[in-house]
Amino acid sequence: MQAQGVATAQVEVKVRIEDILNRMERYRPELDEDLLRHAYVFAANRHQGQIRRSGEPYLTHPLTVAWILADMELDEETVAAGLLHDLLEDTETTAEEIEVEFGPEIERLVTALTKMADFESSYSSREATEAENFRRLLLASVDDLRVILIKLADRLHNMRTLVFLRRDRQIAIARETLDIFAPIANRLGIGSIKVEMEDLCFRYLHPKEAEKLDHEIEDRKEAADRWFAEIHGVLGGLLEENGIEGSIHGRIKHLYSIFEKLKRQGVDVANVFDFLAFRIIVSTVADCYAALGLIHQQWPPVPGRLKDHIAIPKPNAYQSLHTTVIGPEGHPFEIQIRTDEMNKIAEYGIAAHWSYKERGSHAPAEDSRVAWLRALLDNSEGSSPREFIDSLKVDLYPDEVYSFTPRGDVFSFPNGATVLDFAYRVHTQVGHTCVGGRINGRWVPLKTEIVNGDIVEITTSKKQRPHHDWLSIVGTNRARSKIRAWLKREEKARAVEVGRKLVDRELRKLGTSLRSASGSDELAGVIRAGGYPNEDDLIAAIGFGKIPVATLTTVFRKDGEAPAEEEDLTRKKKPAPASKNDHALEVSGDADFLVYMAKCCKPLPGEEIVGFVTRGKGVAVHSRSCPNVRNLLYHPEREIEVQWAPTAPATRAPTSQVDVDMSFNDSSGILASISQAISTEGSDILSCRLRTDPNDTGFAAMTIVVRDKAQLTRILSRLQDLKGMLRVERRGQTGASP
Ligand code: MN
Repeated sequence: MQAQGVATAQVEVKVRIEDILNRMERYRPELDEDLLRHAYVFAANRHQGQIRRSGEPYLTHPLTVAWILADMELDEETVAAGLLHDLLEDTETTAEEIEVEFGPEIERLVTALTKMADFESSYSSREATEAENFRRLLLASVDDLRVILIKLADRLHNMRTLVFLRRDRQIAIARETLDIFAPIANRLGIGSIKVEMEDLCFRYLHPKEAEKLDHEIEDRKEAADRWFAEIHGVLGGLLEENGIEGSIHGRIKHLYSIFEKLKRQGVDVANVFDFLAFRIIVSTVADCYAALGLIHQQWPPVPGRLKDHIAIPKPNAYQSLHTTVIGPEGHPFEIQIRTDEMNKIAEYGIAAHWSYKERGSHAPAEDSRVAWLRALLDNSEGSSPREFIDSLKVDLYPDEVYSFTPRGDVFSFPNGATVLDFAYRVHTQVGHTCVGGRINGRWVPLKTEIVNGDIVEITTSKKQRPHHDWLSIVGTNRARSKIRAWLKREEKARAVEVGRKLVDRELRKLGTSLRSASGSDELAGVIRAGGYPNEDDLIAAIGFGKIPVATLTTVFRKDGEAPAEEEDLTRKKKPAPASKNDHALEVSGDADFLVYMAKCCKPLPGEEIVGFVTRGKGVAVHSRSCPNVRNLLYHPEREIEVQWAPTAPATRAPTSQVDVDMSFNDSSGILASISQAISTEGSDILSCRLRTDPNDTGFAAMTIVVRDKAQLTRILSRLQDLKGMLRVERRGQTGASP
């Protein structure tokens, strides 16, 4: 019952090849013993003389990894690859040798597990290389999930023996394991590995808290044991009287889950009964529900704590009934009820697929757990290593929110997902055109978070299209990648348009036009020379400002014509920097940039600002607090320092447009007060949209004209003070970081 401790690392029983073979014979009667003995002898020879940091022969590591895999009842190839997994990296052995000795299947597994030492890094940092290696590992795992299973076993043994490493390495490895490997084990449904990894990581990352919890549990162990016995007796009686066959297991929840629970609920550790749980394993689904009914008659259930993961399995295929009841002396405790098969899936997850199968068969591709991995990789296509790891971390959080379509289909989401995520889950096009929706019949905006049990209905409009700030609204990678892809396509379409105009204008100077040049041999030559797939891509490159327009037009120049026309054409398309809404701004180091105000946040003079170099369009200036800035910071290399010019132009007080959203109790007269408040401060309303919902709450979206931040602040506070005003907000500034 006691959780496994770090201390067990030193006393771990040595695994022998005979143990592995005996264990495997229990589930594979026609075991290919020769293959495994051969792998064992081969690995023993090659690792000869190598020592682990623990002082043990190196071979103990691959042997234990193979043992963990055998315990998950995996096939010969997987266990053999476990024995051989470190050969390519740590010995002189080559992939060809492994192929000759053990065949191509095992060679592929071992190669996929070997770090890409020869990987030519186009990124300077170690982090980026690791991210890339990791992506390759996952890619290989999509083809053959056994790769990630072996990697998990490898990491599990390394965690068990972490005590021998330096403290800083311990922390780094434990962190990575807790952030990435334990959640992967969870997503693949391998509860046994997830739980052990979490507890080990917890002990290294929070040694004091772990020790304290150990003591507190130990102190209450006697009371807990008495209590276990009592409940066990009652449960056993209940099942027997009603003719249900099953086994009952009492346990202390694993340490890390107790820690998380304490953190989440602020529960007092004194109440150890919160940490006790029972599991009942029966033979049929009908028995699960029958047992649940009996338990609820015996002890009252805590409302809201019944979870039917049999009817609605978790995304990792986990199935079980969970309930919390008020037990003797008023102590609440949790009971899980499941069948044998469900229990096996809960412990071994996707690995359970291999258990009853013929050699060499893989997990079915339609398995939701494989689908998850594939979707993760699809969605990360084209992202930077940093983005990849970030999105991986997001995706690894177990889906915890279950919501429904009006037809009753179930969609699960990570916490924090919004109506917009839901729309993208329904269909990409529904996402692109989503304007909001109804949750349980009430109208809600796009950014509304979904909570458990919500029935969500999406509203679309043909006029709607994705916006940049949507990236900060969505909580799923799927939605984010769809929005990004759309924005990219849109950007390119715009670049093609700009490029066409530029090219056509220059060609006309040379007595031809884009229309007549299109499809010509000369143009085809330029496209080929630049390696562009087609004409549009070449034109887009010009529109983005990646290459000068002359790259294309030169070939149409008649011989002898002076290249005098070939001035910097990109400069020509720049409008005068002082367009009427743009205040005097300075870009540090280069006065020649085309600067414009970002439309999303329209920063005001005096506000903290930051510039981003856009592709071919100059420098976009955002307010520091603009939510889009956080998305743009994915590319910190594009950031550029900008500041307000010290002296504002004297001739005319420049103005900016600011969007303000308000909600208020819709009483007569409030609109008049709003408009008066704005004009009192010397500002004007440029446009205003109004809406009233059935509860008589009014909403106004206004665009007003202001001179500077101080004036805006005065206006906002005047509006806020109006009688009946509920909320005043400058658009584009919600959720901004402080
Ligand atoms: Mn290893």
